[in-house]
Amino acid sequence: MTHQPSETPAASRRLTALLVEPDPAVRDVLAESLKPRFAVVLLAGTLAEAREKVLAGQPDLAVVAARLPDGPVAGLLAAMQGGRPPVPVFLAGTPEDVLAVLSTVALPGLRCLVRPFAPKALEEALDEAAGDIAARRFADEGWQLVRHLLDESPNPSAVLHGAEVASLNQAFLRFMGLGSFGEFKARGLILDRFLADPPPPGGLAAWACRLPDDALDRDHRLRLARPDRPHSPPQVFQVGVTRLPGRNRCLLTLTDVTELELERRELLDLANRDPLTKALNRRKLGDVLAAETARSQRYATPLAVVMLDIDHFKAINDTYGHDVGDRVLMELTARLSAGLRQVDRLARFGGEEFVVTAPGIDAKGAVEMAERLRQAVAETPFAAAGPVTASFGAAAYRPHDRPEDLLKRADEALYRAKAGGRNRVERESPPQTEVR
Ligand code: GH3
Ligand code: MG
Ligand code: MG
Repeated sequence: MTHQPSETPAASRRLTALLVEPDPAVRDVLAESLKPRFAVVLLAGTLAEAREKVLAGQPDLAVVAARLPDGPVAGLLAAMQGGRPPVPVFLAGTPEDVLAVLSTVALPGLRCLVRPFAPKALEEALDEAAGDIAARRFADEGWQLVRHLLDESPNPSAVLHGAEVASLNQAFLRFMGLGSFGEFKARGLILDRFLADPPPPGGLAAWACRLPDDALDRDHRLRLARPDRPHSPPQVFQVGVTRLPGRNRCLLTLTDVTELELERRELLDLANRDPLTKALNRRKLGDVLAAETARSQRYATPLAVVMLDIDHFKAINDTYGHDVGDRVLMELTARLSAGLRQVDRLARFGGEEFVVTAPGIDAKGAVEMAERLRQAVAETPFAAAGPVTASFGAAAYRPHDRPEDLLKRADEALYRAKAGGRNRVERESPPQTEVR
């Protein structure tokens, strides 16, 4: 079988038309025009017959006389135009009859064939309508093909129409744990429900549909999770969006990069974190401090730095062994981290010496934070080694500070905390005022 999609008249031969006309002579004229364009022409002479024919087989197009012997046609017209899919309707009759119907119904898109019919205009109108229907059918068939291909793909994909989801492929439905797109619709779901992170403003679908306009063509990743599986880790997907024909339509395709992302994380950790405690390493602390001091300088925002060192750590190693010492370092990191905000960073500066950076916190806040951390260490015995304490030095950003200036003042304060008896917090010395 050969398929010739470009020849719409050939395709229209499979279409069905309904002709509702009580006058046999008029019916013959109209039927002659319909037959070359439609494979089946159903005939009806009354409203009742017309209703029967519509129920028996949904016609693709209808020509309905404006006046029928058994009642007004308005209801029939509205039912056909409002159907799914809507049936294009031609209202046929004398100018008076057509006008009488038009004055009772408001059906945009209703076309009229006014008697006496001009043969050429009649043919043109029917050709155009048959062409439209065939083109829509062809588009529907194309759409079926696209859906089939998308369903075969292992990558979740969605056809978006602006902020609306027009379709989801099998892989996406499987990810969501849904049996069908109908279920997605019926449950009133939106893509944002599956985001593991806060949704973009305006929603995920609308955001994705705007991406093709983004000239920078940036690399986007999404973390998606099943709301019904709160304990499964989210999966990471690479986002691809292509514009589809039709206004504001696009295809969103997601590629699972969870494994790659994990590898990337591992590499980053390797580069940036201390392997024992997973705190940032000294090199990364340098980057963090450079960025934070630059920000504080630019926006005149506070920045606190706290340096701490475990008291008599050598004795812990000597008493319990190096392994226990290691476990103390890990438990200490966990306790310190638990007391920090998301924007705060904890770094291992050296053996048993750590640094906390806390943007937005001033000198007074730095001392308070250090005191809280001191208590978090000292108040509860450590699992591996019993009571452990640490000494703290607190400092805050001053205009034109370089990272090493801040660290030096925190270190000096820490030294005084050690000298002052340990398990205590000392603040940095006040700025030196020039004496003339
Ligand atoms: P102070 O109160 O003055 O700080 O005394 P301290 O004993 O804590 O200080 P000192 O600097 O003399 O000792 C630090 C010890 O930390 C020496 C070193 O062996 C130990 N250390 C450094 N890194 C590690 C590590 O990764 N694991 C273990 N278990 N010990 C470490
Ligand atoms: Mg020490
Ligand atoms: Mg030390």
